[in-house]
Amino acid sequence: MKTTTRAEQTDDVAYRAWIGHTTTCAACRAGVACPTAVRLGRAWREARR
Ligand SMILES: [Zn+2]
Repeated sequence: MKTTTRAEQTDDVAYRAWIGHTTTCAACRAGVACPTAVRLGRAWREARR
């Protein structure tokens, strides 16, 4: 039986969105500062709290 909480699911979704972006975004893969990555990374940190 899964005991995943709503917060953990949001955390996972935010994390996957961020990782998914960084692996497909040309700017992120080049190591360039990317506003989208910053936003997704911030959303992930917010979800972890
Ligand atoms: Zn990016």
